[in-house]
Amino acid sequence: MKKHIAILGSTGSIGVQALNVVRNHSDLFEVEVLTAHSNYEKLIQQAIEFKPNTVVITNKNYYSKVQEALSSYDIKVFAGDKSMVDVMEMSDIDMVLTAVVGFAGLRPTLRAIEYGKTIALANKETMVVAGKLVTDLAAKKNVPILPVDSEHSAIFQSLTGETFNPIERIFLTASGGPFLGRKTDDLRNVTVSDALKHPNWVMGKKVTIDSATLMNKGLEVIEAKWLFNVKPEQIEVVVHPQSIVHSLVEFKDGSIKAQLGLPSMELPIQYAFSYPMRLSSMLPKFEFINYPQLSFLQPDRDTFRCLDLAYKAINKGGNMSCIMNAANEIAVQSFIDEKISFLDIPVMINDMMDKGFFISEPTLDDLMETDFEIRMKSQQWIDNKHN
Ligand code: NDP
Ligand code: MG
Repeated sequence: MKKHIAILGSTGSIGVQALNVVRNHSDLFEVEVLTAHSNYEKLIQQAIEFKPNTVVITNKNYYSKVQEALSSYDIKVFAGDKSMVDVMEMSDIDMVLTAVVGFAGLRPTLRAIEYGKTIALANKETMVVAGKLVTDLAAKKNVPILPVDSEHSAIFQSLTGETFNPIERIFLTASGGPFLGRKTDDLRNVTVSDALKHPNWVMGKKVTIDSATLMNKGLEVIEAKWLFNVKPEQIEVVVHPQSIVHSLVEFKDGSIKAQLGLPSMELPIQYAFSYPMRLSSMLPKFEFINYPQLSFLQPDRDTFRCLDLAYKAINKGGNMSCIMNAANEIAVQSFIDEKISFLDIPVMINDMMDKGFFISEPTLDDLMETDFEIRMKSQQWIDNKHN
């Protein structure tokens, strides 16, 4: 029996790699749904190759283009955010890969869990903004959430066979990004293209900028807290520039287990798809002899302030991580659009965390409102900066 998979964000970096996995194991996996936001050409091309039951283009402006191009195929075409949420109810979907970027991933993920679909979670922002709602609902519905983020997949893999052994500590590894070793003064004039030059990974723009600020690691600390039910103080961040050790878990006897491999997202995507089985892969294999030295360093929290902001948010709880996430999404986009500088990013997020309306036990509606409110306030912050 083939596993029927819905891929949310199929035109992105994770989405495309997920389709490589499906292509390489077409005897095991079938694409049921593909969604894209504005890259309609790639969506059409993917739909013609993989013949899903349904495609959704969330940016409605491109609906007619997709509809026309696929009119001679037996593929349903929908448009808009609501459709991406509603198609999660389709009975033929076994698993949903959430590979959209940002807050947009939250509602379809919740709907998919509601309808009992296994989640392969790439969209870390979902856990950041609504970790409690998502994990509570998944527990209630008995739905597995399988991590795709490489660090969390490493931890998940290291926990295999350890059901009765509680986690003592988690070490999340971080490459350090393109600005590893730089100090605040060196970062004053960095450009968008400097920040987009990640040393080890080719990813979407948002996560690449998050890697440069270390916010990505902050988001991952929060993601780890919810996925593995640990306290923030049990999670340590270690800079590991080679990106070979993808993360580690320590148990109470002091033993540490890790997962290693060359950096490629196809591996954690494939593991989530085939879990608990491992499948063959054509990816290049790691050779120890090519890496005589694997190094581990302390993160520079004074220079890369976003990491501490994430700990502050998770320690505060409630909607604070949602506030932080919304401010970060606007800050990153504004940096990409050259409206603010690299060093403005943590300053603005910190301001929003001070000014946002705090709710200790937010509902989904509260989180939607928080997200909306902070996006507006962040925009005002940027406008004021230019006046
Ligand atoms: P990309 O920017 O490459 O792709 C994002 C995808 O989401 C695209 O298909 C895009 O559509 C779609 N999308 C964008 N905005 C919206 C929206 N408002 N509503 C619906 N769909 C939207 O991102 P990545 O693949 O790099 O990242 C996806 C997620 O996975 C992120 O949460 C990221 O943090 C996480 N992740 C990524 C890793 C990586 O290696 N890339 C590693 C670990 C985690 P379109 O292109 O058609 O506009
Ligand atoms: Mg990661």
